[in-house]
Amino acid sequence: MPDAIVVGAGIVGAASAFRLAERGLKVLLLEKEATYAQGSTGRSAAGVRVQFSEPLNVLLSYLSILEYREIPEAAYRPLGYLFLVPEALAEAQEEALKAQRALGVPVEKLSLAEAQKKVPFRAEGLAYATFGPMDGVIDPHGATAFYLREARRLGAEVRFSEPLLSARRERGMWRVKTPQGIHEAPYLLLCAGAWTGAVGRRLGLEIPIRPVRRMVFATAPTPFPHAFPLTVDLATGFYFRSEGSRLLFGRSNPEEPPGFREGMDWGWLGPTLEAGLSRFPLLEALALDRKASWWGYYEMTPDHNPILGFVEEGLLVAAGFSGHGVQQAAMVGRLMAEEVAFGKAQSLDLTPFRLRRFWEGKPLRERGIV
Ligand SMILES: Cc1cc2nc3c(=O)[nH]c(=O)nc-3n(C[C@H](O)[C@H](O)[C@H](O)COP(=O)(O)OP(=O)(O)OC[C@H]3O[C@@H](n4cnc5c(N)ncnc54)[C@H](O)[C@@H]3O)c2cc1C
Repeated sequence: MPDAIVVGAGIVGAASAFRLAERGLKVLLLEKEATYAQGSTGRSAAGVRVQFSEPLNVLLSYLSILEYREIPEAAYRPLGYLFLVPEALAEAQEEALKAQRALGVPVEKLSLAEAQKKVPFRAEGLAYATFGPMDGVIDPHGATAFYLREARRLGAEVRFSEPLLSARRERGMWRVKTPQGIHEAPYLLLCAGAWTGAVGRRLGLEIPIRPVRRMVFATAPTPFPHAFPLTVDLATGFYFRSEGSRLLFGRSNPEEPPGFREGMDWGWLGPTLEAGLSRFPLLEALALDRKASWWGYYEMTPDHNPILGFVEEGLLVAAGFSGHGVQQAAMVGRLMAEEVAFGKAQSLDLTPFRLRRFWEGKPLRERGIV
């Protein structure tokens, strides 16, 4: 019989399974799809950055990046994140910078002229820029594969095409029903990403996580070479970066309704390009590659921060990263294993991210969400 059942083989479930197994627990991981990383993990833009405003977000990402750096399969590339800060946000971003520096993470404040040496842009309305030299990208597939391999090496059982259908607590155990049968374990960890709200309902629980579709647009290979950092115009939320000979770009649509809507919303390309072209004239010359563009689900909570840790006896949630879970998964896996081993995470205080913040009316305001 397993000690812990983990639901979901995205990067968060995989990292958690590994860290639980590392602490000597017998782990069973259930995934509804035929293989791993088929949810948001396989659809992400793969960015990792320490540039958040809330210390817990900064640390979750920073400590995760340090871990990814040591995993060859994670293929970490420190291409940097460049934030262009409009005058209206200058003060708030200064506060974030202060918080980041107090934690000792590397972030530089650049003049607009210095930033323009990295990426050409129109400077109207901007105050300054910030650059995170250790920010960059990883390979989320590779990292997930690494964690699953290590979990299995330590005895974890990974079952694909086996969804959790329902679960209930009975005599100190979680009894999980799947199409293949019943599994029992004292601990149940939900890492079902955008599906966690739906999984919660099968347990009779309200977990406020909803799917919201997001898109990444890709250009055709460009006629000129480039190595642009992930550049965000905080005035509009438009972002782009180099990926090989292409550029990837996007912008969150604030009007996108929650739900499992499928496919690309080509209607959002116009407003995205409008925002991009007004700041980055270099985009004018580029052709879009529709087939290389993709979509996926953000796993949104009401305050756009994750839900982490115990929510009931024996029941944990690690989900709802609202679009920044790849960069935090490594550390979250360690914290979930600590939560089980000690009854409470030890390395970081998870209080700001516990589920009860929503019932207590204490959502967390993170300014660095794009
Ligand atoms: C377009 C886009 C761009 C993004 N860009 C970034 C980025 O640059 N940086 C970043 O950090 N994050 C980014 N994200 C967010 C990131 O992808 C997610 O936060 C992260 O992948 C969440 O990982 P997860 O393991 O929690 O969820 P998932 O990867 O979604 O895994 C959940 C798994 O649970 C499984 N599951 C669901 N229900 C059940 C069930 N009943 N039984 C068994 N299994 C079940 C699913 O099949 C899935 O495999 C982006 C997301 C999108 C869509």
